[in-house]
Parts: sequence; structure tokens; C-alpha cells
Amino acid sequence: MKTSEQHEVKIKGLPVSPGLAIARVCMFNEQRHSNLPIYKVKGTGVDLEIARVKRAIEIAGKRLEELRTQISEKIGKAEAEIFVAQKMILEDTTLFKKVVELITEHLLNAENAVSSVLDSYETRMQEVDDEYLRDRASDFGEVKRRILDVLSNMKPSLQCTDKGHCQKGKNRIIVAEELTPSLTVDIETDQILGFVSERSGQNSHGAILARALGIPAVSGLTGFRQKVGCGTELLINGNTGEVVIWPKEETIRKAKAESRKSIQSLVSTDPVAGCKVMANINLASDVNEAIDRKAEGIGLYRTELEIIATGKLLNEDDLYKRYSSVVKSMKGLPVIFRVFDVGSDKPFPFLNIPAEQNPSLGFRGGRLLLGKKELLQSQARALARASIHGPVHIMYPMVIDLSQFLELKAVVEDAIKDIPRGTIKHGVMFEVPSACLDAHEILEEADFGSIGTNDLIQYMFAIDRNNEFVAYDYKPERPVLWKMIKIVADAAVASGKPLSICGELAGDPVYLSRILELGIDTVSVSSKLILNVRNEIRKTTRKENKK
Ligand code: PEP
Ligand code: MG
Repeated sequence: MKTSEQHEVKIKGLPVSPGLAIARVCMFNEQRHSNLPIYKVKGTGVDLEIARVKRAIEIAGKRLEELRTQISEKIGKAEAEIFVAQKMILEDTTLFKKVVELITEHLLNAENAVSSVLDSYETRMQEVDDEYLRDRASDFGEVKRRILDVLSNMKPSLQCTDKGHCQKGKNRIIVAEELTPSLTVDIETDQILGFVSERSGQNSHGAILARALGIPAVSGLTGFRQKVGCGTELLINGNTGEVVIWPKEETIRKAKAESRKSIQSLVSTDPVAGCKVMANINLASDVNEAIDRKAEGIGLYRTELEIIATGKLLNEDDLYKRYSSVVKSMKGLPVIFRVFDVGSDKPFPFLNIPAEQNPSLGFRGGRLLLGKKELLQSQARALARASIHGPVHIMYPMVIDLSQFLELKAVVEDAIKDIPRGTIKHGVMFEVPSACLDAHEILEEADFGSIGTNDLIQYMFAIDRNNEFVAYDYKPERPVLWKMIKIVADAAVASGKPLSICGELAGDPVYLSRILELGIDTVSVSSKLILNVRNEIRKTTRKENKK
């Protein structure tokens, strides 16, 4: 029975992991380290505190490794790579030196020194002007909590102020300040129905893991923890971002009916006539999921993410191993390798590129590859060697015009001139308006094209694709976007060259029929969406046939 205080309140947050959950709240205990001992160290105590930190780092490192193996088996290798970034922070000697300095020179105890150093790094990262890097700030907080957990013999836990309600998260929606990987992984996720958090972007590690685990999640609800407590009933919709506190029966009934409708529409993953559905992958190991979902090729392999996940540049042989494994696995189906798309939201910190005022318009994409030719040349050689095992499509990112495309292609051709190879095609990513307007000229020369709507929208409407504060204005439905897509689609028809769409828009049922109407017959989407997209295509073509 609801009390008079428990009236329905609807709030809109940021949808970060799809699905519907209706359950009571369980508050995550984020304050577990708030009462840790703080004291001044004396005499031999200095060495003891340093030894405690060393031991804690060692144990935390082992736990991270265990977690990485566990996630790799339970969810996937790509998701497990998340913990590599944390391991790198944990093993960073500069950080360790700073902690030691605070212990020896300021006589702080281990807990205090670790917190001070990692808090200051986290704060600095939170202030940078780049959403991707801001999302990485939480890694410092995570590493701090991992070390403090060892130092204080604690574990991430749920704050069960009302034991009767919380049941340690079982069948509950967890409410937390931030969606961190610990939250999604360290606790018993099999039992948890959903997550709501105040912070965390769609690209945060916690959000990626929640999606991989299939747990609905909504974020971006500042002050939400003050509105609910253990036992509050919630409805969360990870597709729309809607969160309802104390939902009425009617609200629950409607939400369930909507969700049933979308589940019933999922029928078969088999390829459909009329539209080829390929997969977007980020790591070579993602190819298995693409095959499981019967992808008709890899429409976008974001090769730069392989490097970002590894944390260092890979040499030609390492790249060859990864690329050839993907080509072999696809057994003759096309694989579109987008060559390193570095810059702005996809940084390679080890390139030491000076900070830019406006990195989205700076040294990135095709421009960067021409400025750092050695990157492209070594990747090109690895790709040429991989092409012995099956067709390789090389796609250049952020191309601005025909001459830039020809220049990039010439660098590649020159780098591979002495390498025995199979079929290699050269294509253009249409994601900058100037290239789209020149699509006809470009497609006369290129072998294929793919429209990257994520960046195209960003550059057409001067809207940062990663900034949650302006997300309300990032609208693919604007007619002028479709005029631009039509220019590229018409150019593909006129030049007889294959064209696909590989931006997020291709996976959105709302836009599929428009894409097909424009004569675009190939889309490339994340493997998890293939089933959905094929069902939507079936529905669209059925409707067309009835007309
Ligand atoms: C795009 O820009 O639409 C795209 C598919 O590439 P990315 O999201 O990697 O920039
Ligand atoms: Mg892009």
C-alpha cells in the first residue's frame, strides 16, 4: 500500500543500457571508506605504511586480473579490456612515488596518502573538456576504492538501511552516485534488475558493462539519491531514460505492454532480402559475436579502439595477427577496416600530440594520418598481408574532399607496393559535410563509401556528439540531414558504387525505413542490434509489399 507521500513522480534521465525494470530500490554503499583511519605516522611507521601500500597494490592487481578473466568468460574479451586501464593506473610508478612522498615527507598514513593522490587525479580528469576522458576519470576513483578495500579489508556492498527491503540487491534496482565497473561487476549482478545513477555518460565503462550484461540502466539524474531510499518502488526504462518513482498500476501496465510488443517482434536473425546487415566491431575478438548473429560482413572495424584498449601502439606483426584473424573468421565476406581514426574523442595519448583548443576540428582523422604517415604505413602493410586470407576494404576516416582521399590512398599504395596481397578496396567514410556534398566526385574514384552519421550530425549542426548537456538538440530527424544523406545515396547509385550507413542511426528502427527509401541497401550496426534491425526490415518490407 502506498502512503500519501508515495505519489508517482516521472523523471527523465539518460538511457545508458536498454530494457525495462520494475522493482524496489537498493542503495549502493559508496560511503564505505568515509570513516577510514587518518593519523600521522611516526619513526619506523613510515616504512610500514609504504609496505602496506605496496601489498595493497599487489593484491588489488591480482583481484583485477581475476576480474578480467571472469568478465572475459562471462561477458566478452572486449569488456574485460576495461580492467586493463585500471591495472595501468594501479601500476603507474609516478602515482606510487607521489603516495610514497606523502607518507615520507608529510607523514600521512597509507589510506590518507592513497586517497589524496588518486582524488586529485580524478578531480583533474573530471575537469577536462572531453567527455571520453571525463568518463575515464572514474577509473582513478575505482583504483582508489580497490586499494582502500584491501587496506581496510572491505568489499563493495549495498547500504541496507532497511534490511527487509534490500535483500542485498536481489531482485532490486541499485541506485548509486556513479555507474562504475565495480558496481556492475563486483556485486552479484545475476540477481540485480536495474541501475540508476546520478553521473556516468553512455561511454563510461560501467555503462558498457551494464549493456553487455543486459541490465537496464539510466543515468544523469543529479540529486536522485535524495529522492529515494531503500525500498522505494521504481520503474526504469533503459530505452527512453524514463524513471518513475512509485509508479501507478496503469503506468506499469502500459510500460509492460510496450516492452512485450518489442520482445514479440524479435523473431529470427536470418539475413533478410532487400538489406544487407553487417556488424560494427571494435576489437578483433568481437568478430565471434558478429558471426553468431549472422552478420553479412564487418561494415566498420574501428581499428583505433584496439590500440586504445591495449594502451599502446601495436607493431605491424601484432596488427597483422589481429587483422588476419578477422579476415579468416569472416570466410570471404567483406571486412571494412576503418584505418586509425585518431583524435578528439578517440585519443592516442602516447602520440604526445599537443593539447588543442578544438580537437574535433584539429589534428584528427585523415589529416592526422597524413601528418603521421608512419602510423598509416605500418597499418597498411598489416592489412595488405591480411588480404591474402580474404577481401580487405580499407576505409579512410574524416575525409574532407577528393584530393585528401587520393593522397591517403597513395600513401597506402606506396607502403604496400612490394607486399604480396589479395583483393584490397579503398573507400571513404562520409561523415564530414564537405565530403558528402562532393560525394559524386569522390565515389567516381573510390571503390565504396559508408556514411558515419554520428559525426555527420556533429559537424552539420555544430553539436558535440558526446556532450550530455546538449544531447537534447542532437536530432537525427532534422530534414536537412536527410537531404545530405540523399546526396550521398544518389551519388552511389550514379557511380554504381556500394554504399552503407554505419552510424548509430542505422540501428534505430525509427530511421530504417527512411534509409531503405533512399535506396541504401546496406547498414552496419553493433552485433547486438542485428536481430532487431533485421526484424524491422522485415516489417518495413512487408508494409511496402502491401501498398
Ligand atoms: C560515425 O561517425 O558515424 C561512425 C560510425 O564512426 P565513429 O562513431 O567511430 O566516429
Ligand atoms: Mg566518426
